[in-house]
Amino acid sequence: MNSLLQCTAVTLLPPEALLLLPSAGVDDSGDPEPYVLCELGEHDGPHTEHAAFLRPGRTPDSAAQWFFWTGDGTERAHRIDRAPWCPALLRRLSTDVVRQCSFFDHHTAPHSWDVDDPLGDLVAERLVPDDSPEG
Ligand SMILES: [Zn+2]
Ligand SMILES: [Zn+2]
Repeated sequence: MNSLLQCTAVTLLPPEALLLLPSAGVDDSGDPEPYVLCELGEHDGPHTEHAAFLRPGRTPDSAAQWFFWTGDGTERAHRIDRAPWCPALLRRLSTDVVRQCSFFDHHTAPHSWDVDDPLGDLVAERLVPDDSPEG
């Protein structure tokens, strides 16, 4: 199976999106994380929206809220929108476990199970200066 790298786009959430995060108001670390990563597999093109999950709907099956954006810095255009879940399912015959794609319906790029998730490393690389030659 060929898996793709996750998109590396990172953006700063505007205040109205921060308010929607389930952790908003919870101040246990004292360090709120206003950055989100695009969760989709690598995709291209200036008109293809990046997408980051904000919060679930009222039930597991109802539409969740997502942050969509294109561009960066002053060029950025964004919207906060509800999107139904991608209906794609992956059944592993060996275990009979069924996974549902964790992206929204009509997303670009492959389904979530085909995307490698280097999220932790990317966040660390981008937000924490590290000039250690060892990597
Ligand atoms: Zn992206
Ligand atoms: Zn999908």
